Amino acid sequence: MGLERRVAVIGAGPSGLAAARALDRAGLAFDGYEAHADVGGLWDIDNPRSTVYESAHLISSRTTTQFDELPMDSAADYPSHRELLRYFRRYADEFGLRDRFRFGTRVLGVEPAGGDDSGRSGWTVRSAPAGSVPGSGADDAVERTYSHVVIANGTLAEPNVPTLPGTFDGEALHSSAYKSADVFAGKRVLVVGGGNSGCDIAVDAVHRAASVDLSVRRGYWFVPRYLLGRPTDTLNQGRPLPARVKQAVDSRLLRLLNGDPRRFGFPEPDHRIYESHPVVNSLVLQHAGQGDLRVRPDVARCDGRTVHFADGSSGDYDLVLLATGYRLDYPFLDPRHLAWAGPGSGTAPRLFCNIVPPSGNGLFVVGMLEASGIGWQGRAEQAELVARYLAAVAAGDDGDVAAQERAVRFRRRLTEPWPDLTGGYRYLGLERMSYYVNKDAYRRTVRRLADELAPAAESAA
Ligand SMILES: Cc1cc2nc3c(=O)[nH]c(=O)nc-3n(C[C@H](O)[C@H](O)[C@H](O)COP(=O)(O)OP(=O)(O)OC[C@H]3O[C@@H](n4cnc5c(N)ncnc54)[C@H](O)[C@@H]3O)c2cc1C
Repeated sequence: MGLERRVAVIGAGPSGLAAARALDRAGLAFDGYEAHADVGGLWDIDNPRSTVYESAHLISSRTTTQFDELPMDSAADYPSHRELLRYFRRYADEFGLRDRFRFGTRVLGVEPAGGDDSGRSGWTVRSAPAGSVPGSGADDAVERTYSHVVIANGTLAEPNVPTLPGTFDGEALHSSAYKSADVFAGKRVLVVGGGNSGCDIAVDAVHRAASVDLSVRRGYWFVPRYLLGRPTDTLNQGRPLPARVKQAVDSRLLRLLNGDPRRFGFPEPDHRIYESHPVVNSLVLQHAGQGDLRVRPDVARCDGRTVHFADGSSGDYDLVLLATGYRLDYPFLDPRHLAWAGPGSGTAPRLFCNIVPPSGNGLFVVGMLEASGIGWQGRAEQAELVARYLAAVAAGDDGDVAAQERAVRFRRRLTEPWPDLTGGYRYLGLERMSYYVNKDAYRRTVRRLADELAPAAESAA
């Protein structure tokens, strides 16, 4: 008997839901696996893998972030995590996706069936109830072989924890474990890392802590959430400007609004705007200006409760909060199947359009992307591309020659030079930027590839 055509989807966050929706619409059989008890991914603060905190809101605005198919039922421009969870539950219900997932079921392993790395024999997915301890011997694990696997386990769950030189005797906490500003009450707090989470959390801390310092390695571009009374990312929605022009216009505008960041204690950015993820936060500047928080350079050494900084200054702290980001992690899979050296290698899986391994082995990743303003629609478009490819494969297997040709053409693209997804921006050579894309270049490319895979492409050609 041949391999059953059936897809496994890992994760029921925004990306896994988008994958489920696209597969369902394409009439493809699939099973979803979700370790938590419900949909919503990291937007469900009760999900043990969630890295949102009580004060978390979207930093991209509602209308640029939502799925096109289902506008968000909210009056807020930047809804809170609670509203977002309600939205994802509604999305799952609206499209009948809930029944398609096995909740409370963690995927422990994804291995090529029969040891055939090409994936032609499919992939064996091993799962177990999420509460069970892997390797405990309690054999409640179940295996099932799938023709294809869509991996949507998220990118912001596995903390990147640097080793601070020396020893710190106070409390240390990574932002992944931060939930509420109560932890700061009455404490001298040092937040390490000036990205979006670091700045959000430093602003939270201002209202509860005895003192707040923010240690940053580099300067950032700070973008206000509102401009002319409108969410900033809703302005300039027309045809994207060339990279150089946009950089020149927006950096001048930000200079006009924020002035010189050094006045607030921040270093001058060492990169042009959009070469790294901008920080969508103006409150942090306001609090620095009010003297509620002090900006410090990189940590040089810790000694007891004292932290020494790169400029020779020092401070005493009760709590160090590491807002030092996340690393990609696919713990259930040998990274070589994603053309990757693995976590901590400083790189990201080398995937065509951040989705497909170059060998076309039947694995797909949805949601492995960072971009300013890509939203969930960007993830839905990744899912649509995967679904259209799999639909073409299925139709080809059933004797539709044109569909088979479309699928072959798509696989050929994996071996040709890959499209440029940077939009002309030169991203910083940092680990967290290794899977960064420009939203316009990316969405244009993915939509074009999906169009090529649609049956209508034949008649149009
Ligand atoms: C504070 C904060 C603010 C953010 N703001 C924005 C914003 O403004 N705009 C924006 O677009 N994005 C924002 N993001 C990014 C966010 O990652 C995405 O919005 C979105 O949640 C990504 O969805 P996902 O489905 O890829 O991953 P996740 O939401 O992380 O979902 C992954 C799911 O996979 C499940 N899972 C993981 N491993 C397994 C396994 N082995 N077996 C079974 N299930 C598994 C998890 O339980 C989880 O439910 C923000 C993130 C944070 C932390």
